[in-house]
Amino acid sequence: MVAGPTGGAGYTPHMAEQNPEAESCPTCRDTGWQLIREGEREFVRECHCAEGRKRVRLLEEAGIPQRYNHCSLDGFELWNNADDPTLKIALAGVREFVDLWPGADKGLLLMGPVGTGKTHLAVAILQELIQQRGVQGRVCRTF
Ligand SMILES: [Zn+2]
Repeated sequence: MVAGPTGGAGYTPHMAEQNPEAESCPTCRDTGWQLIREGEREFVRECHCAEGRKRVRLLEEAGIPQRYNHCSLDGFELWNNADDPTLKIALAGVREFVDLWPGADKGLLLMGPVGTGKTHLAVAILQELIQQRGVQGRVCRTF
């Protein structure tokens, strides 16, 4: 039996950012495959680190503009117009959308004046879904 390092299921891209050495996996030596020996039998299976690597790759491929890399739901501040109740409603709706994914039966449309955080919320949704659920998505701008 091959014993792997602990915490594989909890690997997130943020961990790699906080500790660059965490990207190196001693179990598979960054191949993504783990050799398993059971008696006389040997086989390989996907390493526990593969899902974390997949999510890092999905983030890289998501086309998130650098200026929006910091966007998260927790980082959404109602600084521009904190008294506007619709911003709190929008944030709650976005959180519900993410929590229900992929169970939400409707899409999400963010509307509002310039500078109210629509792009921040849209990027935050994408980042949350990639990091928490391994969802594939991409930022597309039409203007
Ligand atoms: Zn590994």
